Amino acid sequence: MELREENRMNNHEKIDTQCMQETDAAHHLHPFADYRLKKEQTSRIMVRGEGAYLWDSEGNRLLDGMAGLWCTNVGYGRKSIADAVHGQMVQLPFYNTFFHTTHIPAIELAAKLVEISPPQFNHVFFAGSGSEGNDTVVRLVRHYWSKKGNPERQVIISRNNAYHGSTMAGASLGGWQSMHSQGGLPLPGIIHIGQPSYLEGGKGKTQEEFGLEAASWLEQKILDIGAENVAAFIGEPVQGAGGVIVPPVTYWPEIQRICDKYGILLIADEVICGFGRLGYWFGSEYFGIRPDLITFAKGVTSGYVPLGGVLVGDRIVSTLMEKGGEFNHGFTYSGHPIGCVAALENIRILEDEKIVERVHSDTGPYLQKKFEALAAHPLVGNAEAIGFLGGMNLVRQKGATIHDNVPFDAALQIGPTCRAHMIDCGVIMRAVAGDRLVMSPPLTLTHAEIDEMIKLIILGLDKTVEDLRQRKLL
Ligand SMILES: *Cc1c(COP(=O)(O)O)cnc(C)c1O
Repeated sequence: MELREENRMNNHEKIDTQCMQETDAAHHLHPFADYRLKKEQTSRIMVRGEGAYLWDSEGNRLLDGMAGLWCTNVGYGRKSIADAVHGQMVQLPFYNTFFHTTHIPAIELAAKLVEISPPQFNHVFFAGSGSEGNDTVVRLVRHYWSKKGNPERQVIISRNNAYHGSTMAGASLGGWQSMHSQGGLPLPGIIHIGQPSYLEGGKGKTQEEFGLEAASWLEQKILDIGAENVAAFIGEPVQGAGGVIVPPVTYWPEIQRICDKYGILLIADEVICGFGRLGYWFGSEYFGIRPDLITFAKGVTSGYVPLGGVLVGDRIVSTLMEKGGEFNHGFTYSGHPIGCVAALENIRILEDEKIVERVHSDTGPYLQKKFEALAAHPLVGNAEAIGFLGGMNLVRQKGATIHDNVPFDAALQIGPTCRAHMIDCGVIMRAVAGDRLVMSPPLTLTHAEIDEMIKLIILGLDKTVEDLRQRKLL
């Protein structure tokens, strides 16, 4: 396949979409894709973004209800981030932070992250992604307990259906059977308990009762393996890729109490919930918990440049400083100057435009109300939103409670079908298991854009109903 010169241009009118799709299919292995189906499946080519909107190579305008991949918190087309990156590229495109060297962007970003994070955080370890951040977490908490004189505290407890990344440690911490079965995972000493999904496990209970029950699974597991062997518990404040699982309000305070009781470190994976998505700088603040470590990535740069890392709490840093000895861990790109300047400018935008405050008290509650009202649609069994995250399940028939709804046969793949109809209508959502559709739009959406997104979602739902009726599935 020859790439014609005009296809390299950043102008969708001049792109030969079919040629580019064929070249993509011929040479590009996509993440989380079935390579047997590669030849038949074509990929949509995105060419431009502005605010909450994307344009593909055929000129379609799409409202991005997923903020890229849960990350473009400030929206697309921010020239000031591009300018900051350009300036740093010219000044100093790279230097490492090994061997007692540093540079201004890493210094400034570390100080800024400490300023906006909860008070127990005064230090940052930089990585290139969320997965690398979580690899760092695994090594750091085990190193901490060794230094502390409890080397047998090795086990990290996570949850089924959690997502913590795709590296060996990230996928091990995650609770996806589909990932564990490829590569001999999880790594030793990483175990999982049930997730706080009210839809999955709450039948016959109130939300509050179920939240306490789901938290009690942590205590049972700690007692099973012996608290003296447990290093840490890790969780996303709200599970993202697993399907926007909003925990009952009683869950996190009880998890905090259990961690405190047994002296176990609490790790919040804030790769999605951080940087304003729940209307706070960090999702931990929404739930009133005090983690010892926070993993971040995605929203820290709004995805403009890869960057991730870990906020490391005083409890850990003070021990490592007191005991001494090198932490034998780091990445070439730890604190990459380009990622750091992009993050600094991204955080400046979030602050100057009061985006986090708006999600907290204005646009977040507005979106929640509008999104949850989708549960009135005949195809939607339940819809939950929190901040700028939401999810809804498509059902064949509604029952007296959400636990009595009748799902579709999973083999029919109604979720992905609906997602495709939504895209035809002009809005991007993501389909996850259980015919659940999730959203995580840019935090900049105005009321009018929220209205438009909801309108397009309803159009997509209506189209899906029509399609299912034609196929005699409804
Ligand atoms: C995306 C994600 C990760 C992994 O981040 P990458 O940058 O893809 O490595 C980890 N944790 C959570 C909660 C995520 O959503």
